[in-house]
Amino acid sequence: MADIGFIGLGNMGGPMAKNLVQAGHGVKGFDVGAAAIETARANGVEIVGSAAEAKGPVVFTMLPAGEHVRDVYLGDDGIIAAADPATLFIDSSTIDVGTCREVHAAARAAGHSMLDAPVSGGVAGADGGTLTFMVGGDQADFAKASPLFEIMGRTVVLAGGPGNGQAAKVCNNMILGISMIAVAEAFSLAEKLGLEAQSLFDISSKASGSCWAMLNHNPVPGLVETSAANRDYKPGFAAAMMHKDMKLSQAAAAQVGAATPLGAQAAALYTLFVNAGNSDVDYSGIIKMIKGE
Ligand code: NAD
Repeated sequence: MADIGFIGLGNMGGPMAKNLVQAGHGVKGFDVGAAAIETARANGVEIVGSAAEAKGPVVFTMLPAGEHVRDVYLGDDGIIAAADPATLFIDSSTIDVGTCREVHAAARAAGHSMLDAPVSGGVAGADGGTLTFMVGGDQADFAKASPLFEIMGRTVVLAGGPGNGQAAKVCNNMILGISMIAVAEAFSLAEKLGLEAQSLFDISSKASGSCWAMLNHNPVPGLVETSAANRDYKPGFAAAMMHKDMKLSQAAAAQVGAATPLGAQAAALYTLFVNAGNSDVDYSGIIKMIKGE
């Protein structure tokens, strides 16, 4: 099978590239970090000397933020300029919609194609090949990339044109961030009212207050097996990641003039939580701040 380029071999990109190798693809990988390179090499990735050399008909990027994506793609020594003709670029980083659409346009202007394909599912999902891909771009490019997404993920959805994968990711995570705070407030109020957390859970989980955060990541220990609260709020989904996604939602809202007052409030609460030294705590740990602990 033809080589696939893979730039950004960190916590997510490393295991994603490993799964492509295990499925029989040759992967030419690049990262600026020595540890990421060593792990990827041990997993069968052919390490090349620069992002521009990580070539193939399809090139994935999995980078920390928009500024890294801009650096790697754009400019005279960027991968758009260096790529073979008609390369399909797939950016799986979580970045702002504006940068994403700008890079899409630059790729198209140079005769290439591009999909934005941010993921959810975390490091465990990347490792186990069970990620969810939210994809923005053309139907034909999506069809071409789908067999690769299916190696690395379990759920793959085309959300519309360029940038719509990022839009879906940011909207989904804004719901999650807000609803976690709502659940944390309700369970804190219940405690003060003398209502057992188990009783509220038994009622609300089957009533109109139910939501994904309550059922899967409940911030009160002992209610839900999958909850980080049972492991002293060890992530899971780190507060720093939720903070990043909430800030992206607010940047997107400002850019298009959308009113997201609860999103703004939730973003401010995660800023307080992270600034108090909780970057590496699971985002559900925000219940401690709400309870004043
Ligand atoms: P990470 O920091 O572990 O990996 C990013 C990698 O990119 C690092 O190894 C870094 O050295 C490399 N890098 C940075 N600049 C580079 C450059 N110019 N050229 C080549 N490599 C470069 O981050 P991660 O946890 O793998 O996350 C990657 C993306 O996935 C982020 O956008 C994140 O928001 C998103 N994401 C992460 C998770 C998660 O649970 N970790 C879940 C969903 C989405």
